[in-house]
Amino acid sequence: MQTVQEQSGSAELAGLLSVEEARARIVAAMPVLGAEKIRVGSAAGRVLAEDIVARVSLPPMPVSAMDGYACRSTDVMSLPATLQKIGISKAGSHFAGSVTAGTCVRIFTGAVVPQGADVIALQEDATEQDDAVTIEEVPKPGQFIRPMGMDFGAGQRCVTRGRVLTARDLGVIASCGHGEVPVRRKPRIAILSTGDELIEPGSPFSGPDRIMASNGVSLAAAVALWGGEPVDLGIVPDEVAAIAAAVDSVSGADLLVTSGGASVGDHDLVHASLHTRGFAVDFWKIAMRPGKPLMFGRLGELPVLSMPGNPVSTLVCALLFLRPAMWAMLGLNDTNPRFDRAVLASRLPENDRREDYVRTHLEADAEGRLLAHPFPKQDSAMILTLAQADGLIRRKPFAPAAGPGDEVEIIRFRDCGGY
Ligand code: AMP
Ligand code: MG
Repeated sequence: MQTVQEQSGSAELAGLLSVEEARARIVAAMPVLGAEKIRVGSAAGRVLAEDIVARVSLPPMPVSAMDGYACRSTDVMSLPATLQKIGISKAGSHFAGSVTAGTCVRIFTGAVVPQGADVIALQEDATEQDDAVTIEEVPKPGQFIRPMGMDFGAGQRCVTRGRVLTARDLGVIASCGHGEVPVRRKPRIAILSTGDELIEPGSPFSGPDRIMASNGVSLAAAVALWGGEPVDLGIVPDEVAAIAAAVDSVSGADLLVTSGGASVGDHDLVHASLHTRGFAVDFWKIAMRPGKPLMFGRLGELPVLSMPGNPVSTLVCALLFLRPAMWAMLGLNDTNPRFDRAVLASRLPENDRREDYVRTHLEADAEGRLLAHPFPKQDSAMILTLAQADGLIRRKPFAPAAGPGDEVEIIRFRDCGGY
């Protein structure tokens, strides 16, 4: 049963934008950023801007996979066979001649197989005395020879643009012969914290009205972890002129994020401040909990995402909107957060019109099912419970009450890039 208060709340929320629509509008408004070339060793986590084509084959020549003797299969048809050793081929220094009838070349792992040889007799199956090598046993021809280009050939496309580069990819790119790699420029995200009550973390706690400003810290950290470049604009008081001046100071940013003052109270002045600078609102307020006062629009070319100041609202909005915005700027195709499924371990009441994001513990049960234990208290001012949670349960608008054993959709924080 809905209470009267919830019903009137629903009416008020009737016109609110859905979370999905809000995200789609933000994503659509983001330009894909240009590319820059950086050293391959520094490119982990960056988004590849152009396909990587191999400059060389790997291996560049046929090479031995074992230590032994490179010989001709026709010479070792009947065993034992004694061959004359005419040289050595080792990694970094190949044998320049050819293996001719009755001869062999001592060879080591990774060394180029000399001309004429088509079989590697293993060293444990051979004895050597005064350059006479007696071979007792041979593998099949070609068995321990890695053909040229076995891994990839010169001209082959090995890594495709749009990939978020892993350490493994960097190994491939280096093997392809590239010392530099073209990647998308990092999105520059300017972060402005607003609120008369805010003080810099670490400064003396100067009175009962003061709150440590944590959003600038957590947002900047999330931006950096997600492959962006945070620009912390610090804290400004709840004054139109001060907020507008801070906004004027933004330069070179791809997106401005503000925290606090996004609601419609007397001291929520972000919209009013932006308005004095010609702000074009795309949307203001969405059907979401936490995060209802979210606002998005443009100041000239600069997209602006204004988040409510409660730390949990800010960080949930960052996960659901800021990260997808960054993905869009990085040119990634999939800009939706990843949702998984879990089994609810306790009861959740029916939901109203607002899509609800519920902090939860997640643990595997004896059968390996993922169990969600939602926290009983979900106040959006409680940042500690967000840090202690393993994820969020998404409750769609008007989701019916759910209980133990019911399936729910979740976002797992361990999949959220260090969030
Ligand atoms: P507001 O969205 O400005 O109404 O802020 C809602 C609540 O979030 C207030 O109680 C603030 O004290 C708190 N808050 C706002 N900004 C920050 C911030 N940067 N860090 C931590 N808490 C904040
Ligand atoms: Mg405020």
